[in-house]
Amino acid sequence: MIDLHTHTNFSDGTDSPAQLINKALAAGISVIGLTDHDSVSGWQEATAALRPGISLVPGAEISCQTSDGISVHILGLLFDSQNVELMKTMEETRENRHGRMAKIIARINEAGIDITMEDVLEQLADGATLGRPHLADALVKKGVVTSRDEAFTQMLHNKSKYYVSHYSPTPEVAIKLIKDAGGVSVIAHPMASHRGRTISIETFGSLIKAGLDGIEVDHRDHSPDEKNQLIELARDNNLIMTGASDYHGNGKLNLLGEYTTLPEQWEKLEARANKRRVVSV
Ligand code: AMP
Ligand code: ZN
Ligand code: FE
Ligand code: FE
Repeated sequence: MIDLHTHTNFSDGTDSPAQLINKALAAGISVIGLTDHDSVSGWQEATAALRPGISLVPGAEISCQTSDGISVHILGLLFDSQNVELMKTMEETRENRHGRMAKIIARINEAGIDITMEDVLEQLADGATLGRPHLADALVKKGVVTSRDEAFTQMLHNKSKYYVSHYSPTPEVAIKLIKDAGGVSVIAHPMASHRGRTISIETFGSLIKAGLDGIEVDHRDHSPDEKNQLIELARDNNLIMTGASDYHGNGKLNLLGEYTTLPEQWEKLEARANKRRVVSV
């Protein structure tokens, strides 16, 4: 099984990279993509944990925002982590997430809920990318809500009065940066409408023009009808179709390998990278 989209505690997942590799192997996954938000910090530990039977596709999920303010996630896979421009962009996003968190906390405080930046940072592993799930965990610890999911549906969703966005590149820029770093790009969960506004067909065209390689079709946040629309779009534009779990440990219901990528699609995607960067022992 090939699962190209997962998170660890180097962003908002709850497993360490070594735990992720062990669980993936036990779940029958032979190719695992590690795609923490705006970070490559988990690659080293994941690489060290590899054993025969499982190989690692190093990657990252790049937070992006279109010029009209829609949040888009671009999976970058198989890029060179020494590429200065791409690493600088991710670093800028990670830093900006801290100022953004302070603003969200201020809005929540104004509503009379007592929560501090310290409470949130306590939920974050060293060197990890800060995100709303860590705030959700802090709110659970304080007893304001009972789960991450409840925190998101009641307080932290994109249309909430507490919501603040953070700096992020446009998806076109991210696609170009990934390509310049030798990697391939796949748009993650493009039709996950419950997360907020999703991109128009025109924006899709613009991403394809920028060099988008693939579309994540099979994902728990897509309905059968949405998948069919994406399959048609991929076929019409010669794009690769992937499927993935978007596993977050016990931070989300998503199970490892619940959606997967077909071997022939994966081979085509890997062939678009400038070098073989899949890691195995
Ligand atoms: P942020 O990166 O700070 O904008 O937060 C977005 C992250 O929150 C995404 O990576 C999602 O995986 C996570 N998220 C969104 N909705 C939920 C939910 N209902 N339960 C748990 N995590 C969620
Ligand atoms: Zn996440
Ligand atoms: Fe995402
Ligand atoms: Fe994700």
